[in-house]
Amino acid sequence: MNVFFDVDDTLVSSWDGSLRPQVKEVFEQLIADGHNIYIWSGVGLRWYEIDKHGLRSYVKGCYVKPLWDHRRRLALLGIDVEPHFVIDDYKEVVDVFGGHTIKPYFRRDPADREMALVYEKVCNYDVDARRPR
Ligand SMILES: [Mg+2]
Repeated sequence: MNVFFDVDDTLVSSWDGSLRPQVKEVFEQLIADGHNIYIWSGVGLRWYEIDKHGLRSYVKGCYVKPLWDHRRRLALLGIDVEPHFVIDDYKEVVDVFGGHTIKPYFRRDPADREMALVYEKVCNYDVDARRPR
């Protein structure tokens, strides 16, 4: 599947800029399972954050996320791959494409284990039916 991750409060705390625990481990697992990882954000291209946290080698593409009229605006924003599963702290985007609404990562929390839950959700998703198995 093409798995799309939001940045602010999903992968990175918007408060202190810290990377959520287990992001690299779960990215590695997803890629080993044959998935493609994309990163998008409503506020622009986030290569700075991707490089700051050493994520570039995992990421197939980086895009601006459509915030309204989501499906129609994909092409307009140069997104030429179909988002199959999106992870976002903002439910509206998940409702449109399917995926998982993640608990917001507001600030550094070494005990946060939401990425492990993301991995479980991806593993148990039926992409053809667009819902959990
Ligand atoms: Mg967000």
